[in-house]
Amino acid sequence: MIPVLQVEGLVKHYGIAGGFLGRAVAQVRAVDGISFAIAPGETLGLVGESGCGKSTVGKAVLRLVEPSAGRIVLEGEDITRLGRSAMIEKRKRIQVIFQDPYSSLNPRMTAGDIVQEPLVNFRMGTAAEQRERVGALFARVGLRADQRALYPHEFSGGQRQRLGIARALALGPSVIIGDEPVSALDVSVQAQVINLMVELQEELGLSYLFVAHDLGVVEHISHRVAVMYLGKIVEIGPRKSLFEAPRHPYTEALLAAVPVAHPRLRRKRAVLKGDVPSPINPPPGCRFHTRCPIAVPRCREAEPPLVADGAGHAVACHLRAPA
Ligand code: SF4
Repeated sequence: MIPVLQVEGLVKHYGIAGGFLGRAVAQVRAVDGISFAIAPGETLGLVGESGCGKSTVGKAVLRLVEPSAGRIVLEGEDITRLGRSAMIEKRKRIQVIFQDPYSSLNPRMTAGDIVQEPLVNFRMGTAAEQRERVGALFARVGLRADQRALYPHEFSGGQRQRLGIARALALGPSVIIGDEPVSALDVSVQAQVINLMVELQEELGLSYLFVAHDLGVVEHISHRVAVMYLGKIVEIGPRKSLFEAPRHPYTEALLAAVPVAHPRLRRKRAVLKGDVPSPINPPPGCRFHTRCPIAVPRCREAEPPLVADGAGHAVACHLRAPA
């Protein structure tokens, strides 16, 4: 199947200015050569601790930050170097849902105007057709028609995220980037929003890149999951095999941190030692070696490649790579 979104060797380094004349004195290697593809109607969960570069991947794919290297192909078209106006046109096909809907919604606009705004900007339909579409979107995301006149502060957190989803859907995109879209919500509300996103995906054939810091959050919605550590993908595979048979020690540690409801099913704890090293000066060899409970001397010298098995489950680890 032809992917709807393909990312090849994506790199994003930020220069840190300092010294004489404010020259760049160091580079933050936020994203350091990652590749993935998402099929139509598929969700890829992208998971890692804070500072691993996962949100930068989402921003680079949307071209909200300029990639330092690599390629982004959307619906068969390379959009990596598209000019500003051509990229604005592409926003019809790729949209975003942010973590904090409150800060991403204009507090001085009514909910109805917020959802209608993209239709106005892209001159899609007459004013009456736009209002009709807004009404349909409100109904589809579970908001009442009378709530169109309310302002963002008059909604609950979950309702605001529904509003953010309605706005993202307004132009009929094929891909939605969810940048921690449920992280700021209570657990029960998280489940409602995720269920809504799953329903919308089935109905509209949407593809999602779902960014989260918690593997538990992506389990229900993802078809495949990619785990990032210090700017690299260290494991990627189908949800079932990644959750049931994780291969990378970092994935194991993230999974151990996911709460399990039944006490007898409690997972073995694999507590991560130490803090995430700085992306300015990542450790040589395997970037995880400073925290890895099974590291061997080779891990400090050679970087492990991402090696896939025949079922598309890939891991970057000298000791756990498929034979
Ligand atoms: Fe641990 Fe070495 Fe595997 Fe890295 S390559 S995850 S340090 S065992």
